[in-house]
Amino acid sequence: MKYISTRGRAPVLDFEAAMLTGLARDGGLYLPQSLPRWSAADIAALAGLPYEEAAYRVMRPFVGDSFSDGELRGIIERAYAGFGHAARAPLVQLGSGHFLLELFHGPTLAFKDFAMQLIGQMFEAALTRSGRRVCIVGATSGDTGSAAIEAFRGLDAVDVFILFPHGRVSEVQRRQMTTPTEANVHALAIDGHFDDAQARVKDMFNDFSFRDEVNLAGVNSINWARVLAQVVYYFTAAVSLGAPHRKVSFTVPTGNFGDVFAGYIARAMGLPIDRLVVATNRNDILHRCLQSGDYRLEGVAPTISPSMDIQVSSNFERALFYAYGQDGAVVSRVMDELNTGGFHVSQGALEALREVFDSGSVGEDETLRTIAATHAATGEVLCPHTAVGVNVAERLRDPATPMVTLATAHPAKFPDAVEQATGQRPSLPPRMADLFEKPERVSRVDNDLSAIEALIRERTAQ
Ligand SMILES: *Cc1c(COP(=O)(O)O)cnc(C)c1O
Repeated sequence: MKYISTRGRAPVLDFEAAMLTGLARDGGLYLPQSLPRWSAADIAALAGLPYEEAAYRVMRPFVGDSFSDGELRGIIERAYAGFGHAARAPLVQLGSGHFLLELFHGPTLAFKDFAMQLIGQMFEAALTRSGRRVCIVGATSGDTGSAAIEAFRGLDAVDVFILFPHGRVSEVQRRQMTTPTEANVHALAIDGHFDDAQARVKDMFNDFSFRDEVNLAGVNSINWARVLAQVVYYFTAAVSLGAPHRKVSFTVPTGNFGDVFAGYIARAMGLPIDRLVVATNRNDILHRCLQSGDYRLEGVAPTISPSMDIQVSSNFERALFYAYGQDGAVVSRVMDELNTGGFHVSQGALEALREVFDSGSVGEDETLRTIAATHAATGEVLCPHTAVGVNVAERLRDPATPMVTLATAHPAKFPDAVEQATGQRPSLPPRMADLFEKPERVSRVDNDLSAIEALIRERTAQ
């Protein structure tokens, strides 16, 4: 399978090259040239399979000849072996017709582990084969960074540098990034917010001489392999609830639009998804855009669901590419307008988006009330991101169609908000109980491209 850029002017790559490069050289994001279409029989055949086997069947056609069948099976087995639940992504019923898809049983307790553990194994396999070494640079609002560090720590062929906004991630998130002792792990606290961190990472990718000098590789949710890993659980969840014979809807707590876009791909492959509901906190640019067509930057407000405190939603570009009929030139022009504060989605493209996506936004008090009310009614303890999803799902769902809300993190990752809402402090799973005793290792950096590049050069010089 070949991969093309959303902006239409970057080299066409195979799966392995698209995975190792992350961002396309024209500033766009890679997407498959065409999507495999699944028949109802293909979907029905997933029923009852172990998660790993379903993952193999969903991902196999996208990987092409980058990995052999045996290599891909081994990669998947190793990726999910460390999860704390045999089902990997279990479904729990919240109420009549409403389900939670628990995606927080991986090593860092957030859904990011599904993709990051997988691409850790894929990088390792590809780089070992070619004898190359890469420098992974990522920006995080908290969970991506911890998941990336967990997936790449100690690997021989990789250095991993993670930029996180100083003072704006939870203590558990920060400690997951700053306590690993492996020499190839570098946690960088940037003076700024998540969008600054993400912008500096994009700048590094657009600085081609630096990019080539240190062999930069990206593992942010712009990396196609991450989106692909997340397509799998839409299939397993929908099949558990009756697909292909019955439609299912999903509500997705959304920041960078990666997770919900994976649902879009599953739907485009033929999975009978009725609605994909985008749930945002008060940083609601996606909700405003889907309502009005106006994608306008307004600054980021810190919230109790920090992994969604984002305004430039990178993966939205992929949805725009399809909404604009796969016209890279138009996408390129629209994305250029972002530099002047925003853009307006054309009427046709907006209608195409609304055929698939609904949206809602939730404030802080309502999020806390949802955690408390869900706990009282069901005994389930939600993390604040998941609570945003559950609140929007309850408001927008059609009682005739099962709704699955993605539970994106374990409540113990955000204990302060959960305690405020329920009066009870959620505890970490026993395998992580010593997190608060370990020493931390972190470098403070200015929000300045050349300073960050200098630090990376120095740390990667042999
Ligand atoms: C990353 C994250 C999100 C947002 O996911 P996107 O793919 O960026 O939309 C939501 N909840 C949690 C807990 C996260 O870590």
